[in-house]
Amino acid sequence: MSVTIIENEPLAKYTSWRIGGPARWFANATTADELREALAWAHVHAVPVFVLGGGTNLLVRDAGFAGLVLRYRDTSLQLRPQGERATAHIGAGAPMAGTVRRLAAQGWAGLEWAEGLPGTIGGAVFGNAGCYGGDIAGVLQRAWLLASNEIEEWPTERFVFGYRTSVLKAAQTQPAPIVLAAEFALQRADRQALAEQMDRTAAERKSKTPWGSSCGSVFKNPPSTSAGRLIEAAGLKGARIGQAEIAQKHANYIVNLGGASSDDILALIELARERVQREFGIELVLEVQIL
Ligand SMILES: Cc1cc2nc3c(=O)[nH]c(=O)nc-3n(C[C@H](O)[C@H](O)[C@H](O)COP(=O)(O)OP(=O)(O)OC[C@H]3O[C@@H](n4cnc5c(N)ncnc54)[C@H](O)[C@@H]3O)c2cc1C
Repeated sequence: MSVTIIENEPLAKYTSWRIGGPARWFANATTADELREALAWAHVHAVPVFVLGGGTNLLVRDAGFAGLVLRYRDTSLQLRPQGERATAHIGAGAPMAGTVRRLAAQGWAGLEWAEGLPGTIGGAVFGNAGCYGGDIAGVLQRAWLLASNEIEEWPTERFVFGYRTSVLKAAQTQPAPIVLAAEFALQRADRQALAEQMDRTAAERKSKTPWGSSCGSVFKNPPSTSAGRLIEAAGLKGARIGQAEIAQKHANYIVNLGGASSDDILALIELARERVQREFGIELVLEVQIL
């Protein structure tokens, strides 16, 4: 077997919240064949599988995960220009923000809205990540997935993308289809103008992002309002449980002040949900995944 399965790997270091207990089993894979090997191993040992991207939209419980965590690390980028247009074929393990910067530096637009967006291409496709006027649904042409041991090519429609969701996120089947690579449509653009636009996005992102470890927005925005505004109006900015705090700067962020437990975060999530439900009759829905 070419893939190495390790035992009791602490997961906190793989998450942007810096929270979470160990994975009973853990493997890095860089090819579809390595993923297949690891999945076969999990099948033989009858353990559940979880696919980890950049861990930037994920709360891992302190008890950890009693199965196999698979981290897919294909970071390849192939650019296929055709005149003023191009397609970018990107491995699912590639960092979203870094890849977008590389493309923009070569004068290719289409993904520039994702400047500073944490996480991987695979995680972004799973959750239809979006910001600053763009989202994955708007630019994805097709993707390749490992599903039931076969590599399948999926057109965009098959993902049934919605606001921060896809068929993958909604269904959560086991074993889950794994995004291997995605293809995006790009257009030629002026490099300087792109760089300036992305600098503006970076500055705006920085001004809105609270200090500390977080997973970005905890809840999805309910129709026609923002989760952050509701939580703030419920008087919860700065609320603390243990070492976790509802951020002063942005109430839809919960920050780990250092040493927060998953229970601290979950208790704040519950508090925000209950309070917003009671005060405004609105049910907050989680954007973040819980493992
Ligand atoms: C400071 C901060 C700001 C953020 N701002 C934004 C924002 O503006 N907009 C936004 O949309 N999000 C934002 N996020 C959330 C996060 O960046 C995105 O949701 C991101 O796309 C998650 O990608 P990931 O690789 O980290 O996924 P992970 O957190 O590792 O995983 C999330 C889910 O995706 C699944 N997954 C990961 N890779 C694959 C794969 N290859 N195949 C199948 N399933 C996979 C996992 O199983 C899991 O269920 C922010 C996060 C932080 C920390």
